[in-house]
Amino acid sequence: MIKTNLKFKKAVKRIFEKIKQLLYPPVCPLCEEVLLGGKTRICDDCRKKISYPTEPLCLKCGKEIDDTEAEYCRDCLDKPKSFVKGFPAMVYKEPVRRSIVKFKYQNRSSYADCFAQEIIKTHGREILDISPDVLIPVPVHKKKLEKRGYNQAEVLAKSLGNYLNIPVDSEILKRTVNTIPQKLLSDEERQKNLEKAFISNKKQVQYRCAMLVDDIYTTGATVESCTKALKSAGIREVYYTGICIGRDK
Ligand SMILES: [Zn+2]
Ligand SMILES: [Zn+2]
Repeated sequence: MIKTNLKFKKAVKRIFEKIKQLLYPPVCPLCEEVLLGGKTRICDDCRKKISYPTEPLCLKCGKEIDDTEAEYCRDCLDKPKSFVKGFPAMVYKEPVRRSIVKFKYQNRSSYADCFAQEIIKTHGREILDISPDVLIPVPVHKKKLEKRGYNQAEVLAKSLGNYLNIPVDSEILKRTVNTIPQKLLSDEERQKNLEKAFISNKKQVQYRCAMLVDDIYTTGATVESCTKALKSAGIREVYYTGICIGRDK
């Protein structure tokens, strides 16, 4: 009887999976073309168009730099960073750029899985070698969270944590003020806008080494502010990883 029940449940589950596939067929997160069979993944055409950061790279944030003699990008030289090292998977340009807009603002949280896989493909080995105690998503303000329904960095961190078997802590960092969109500000204003934008819940700190997770890294101002908050709460080493990184100025 129990066996029959189990078989029945499995059959029902399979039927629901099929219906779900018909209603929401798997798509490529970059071009949104429907894929035949299988699950959501980056299609072969889009894969050819992706830019991965290539040497020479900034030794700090992982951004591509033009000068083969230089060790760091301009942003890291202008404003030294207190995180140890960054591991971005791709360069922030098409076709990844528009996909991230959808991932962030248009309910495509399901794309997280593909992006997590890209991070693992490019930096999984290094992340496992570092073996952080925890993955910490860059938080969004409560009001933004209510509007969007999810924090894309948190969904990404959870997917990454699942694959790499690293716990995720979404509580330790909080965004205190609803900051003005960074893209509207000059570099100088960006840093000011972000100062004191993050606090950490000090009571919870039990980690020695943490890895921040975010979607896009541009100048590093956000990751730097988060790093400072985590370090002031006693975390000794902070790294970051993300889907993509901008180009050197
Ligand atoms: Zn595609
Ligand atoms: Zn850099």
